[in-house]
Amino acid sequence: MRLATFTDRAGTRIGLVVGDEIVDLKHARPELPTDMIAFLTAGPEALAAARTALNGSSARLKLKDVRLDAPVPKPSKFLAIGLNYADHVAESGLARPAHPLFFNKQVTCVTGPFDPILIPRDSEQVDYEGEMGFVIGRRCRRVPRERAHEVIAGYCVIDDVSIRDWQFRAQTFTLGKSFDGHGPVGPWIVTPDELSDPNKLRIRTWVNGELRQDSSTDQLIYDCFDQVAALSQAFTLEPGDIVSTGTPSGVGMGFKPPKYLKVGDVVKIEVEGIGAIENRVEPEP
Ligand code: ZN
Repeated sequence: MRLATFTDRAGTRIGLVVGDEIVDLKHARPELPTDMIAFLTAGPEALAAARTALNGSSARLKLKDVRLDAPVPKPSKFLAIGLNYADHVAESGLARPAHPLFFNKQVTCVTGPFDPILIPRDSEQVDYEGEMGFVIGRRCRRVPRERAHEVIAGYCVIDDVSIRDWQFRAQTFTLGKSFDGHGPVGPWIVTPDELSDPNKLRIRTWVNGELRQDSSTDQLIYDCFDQVAALSQAFTLEPGDIVSTGTPSGVGMGFKPPKYLKVGDVVKIEVEGIGAIENRVEPEP
């Protein structure tokens, strides 16, 4: 299933994307929660009930008539991992980390799959990072790697937008990774049954149609399941928490001279089997 959060004149709610349509779950299955975190928290029964709505032809809207939002607009956590593709480690000139290098993106930076990326007045070093993300589906702690798949609700596409001078001038990445609007997520959550192996998916990023990143999640140093195990060793993961799994080589900073984003650019990131997000770069209002 493709679980989406969307908005139209009737408000914001969740639905299932099928081709160029979206099944409005509020109408198809009124007993279900209408927000993604509550829906995921409701567990396998809610997922099964939603799945039955795929068969009906009623309660369907055209995708072009709604706005897709981030599938989890306000997660309780938004985590990401640095230097997690060998080729990106090489282009950064940094050492391969001995432990997974997790950091926080503040949840207020989450935006929709087609919302603008804002260039703030504070820096001209705004960069893209095409990434696969996963969304937690179950409250969990100390999940062993071999059971990590049980707590992942599904997968999505993320741009881990980064302000390089802010990222590297401090001991932590927090400020440089968390400017408002610097966390486009979407276009929906693809449930694991639709992907044969999340750790073997082609991932590509284009800027103005120019292919900048072209890799596969099989190049991840710590794959999705390693990341669940490592994070949940330290703290509880909750439904709706988002983890962005790292970016391959080809970010703007890696070019000489660097190719940072400028107003008017369009960044498209696609992960095989999941979909694509596309964000136009605009000045901060
Ligand atoms: Zn990243």
